[in-house]
Amino acid sequence: MNLFDLSGKVAIVTGARTGIGQGIAEGLAEAGCDVVGAGHAPMPETEAYIKGLGRRFMYYDIDLVKQDKIQSLIDDTVREFGHLDILVNNAGIIRRNDILDFTEKDWDDVISMNLKSLFMLSQAAARLMKDNGGGKIINIASMLSFQGGIRVVSYTASKSGVAGITKIMANELAKYNIQVNAIAPGYIDTNNTEALVKDAKRSAEILARIPTGRWGTPEDLKGAAVFLASKASDYVNGHILAVDGGWLAR
Ligand code: NAP
Repeated sequence: MNLFDLSGKVAIVTGARTGIGQGIAEGLAEAGCDVVGAGHAPMPETEAYIKGLGRRFMYYDIDLVKQDKIQSLIDDTVREFGHLDILVNNAGIIRRNDILDFTEKDWDDVISMNLKSLFMLSQAAARLMKDNGGGKIINIASMLSFQGGIRVVSYTASKSGVAGITKIMANELAKYNIQVNAIAPGYIDTNNTEALVKDAKRSAEILARIPTGRWGTPEDLKGAAVFLASKASDYVNGHILAVDGGWLAR
């Protein structure tokens, strides 16, 4: 018996075109899972990799700043693949500005996508998982689920909210055999952190605080995602798992 085997399972991964979502989608497929990649632009690299493993992949076109297609995403996944076992709420955006200059749009867009869509997609998935005997929901949190950060107020609010939602969903959904956990990535080199990497001073400050001595990569998230998606984590619920090279321990 392989506790980490995901053969026959179906996962939705939001934002699987690039970065962490791509890494997680590919990791789940390596463990045997079929994948629906949900995002607002096609994902040819992710698709080719997953199909190359002999797994099934479907791209689903959805703008997650809005909530109008969330139920259709769930319905079309079931129509195409027959069931849904795993939801990874990965898609997220960040806007940077000083608090005194922060705009209402930069507040609303980030909260709508990182928090409202995450909740509504989880709710729709959980209704289905309840009827199917269980499932796994994995939210992508952040170091800013624990810390304040600088110049990213709506992002910090959203990721602190993701930590809270993960816990309340775990509490309420446990009775349906649905486990809800979060991964809190540390500093991972992706589009999301491009501005930080390019800022030599900030980049050096960040690196100096990572005990592992390097920025993370999307591949670093694969193991945690497979663990939280698999039977290996059936008694893990409401946990926020930092994958941060030791950042929080510093
Ligand atoms: P990323 O490469 O920018 O990934 C974000 C993903 O979300 C992309 O696939 C993007 O699609 C998708 N997306 C953006 N706007 C969307 C929209 N309106 N509708 C649907 N999908 C949309 O950055 P990342 O670092 O991998 O971020 C992934 C998650 O990890 C986010 O939740 C982020 O907050 C979180 N995170 C990242 C770090 C880090 O250090 N990088 C640390 C902690 C947490 P397109 O590429 O097609 O725009």
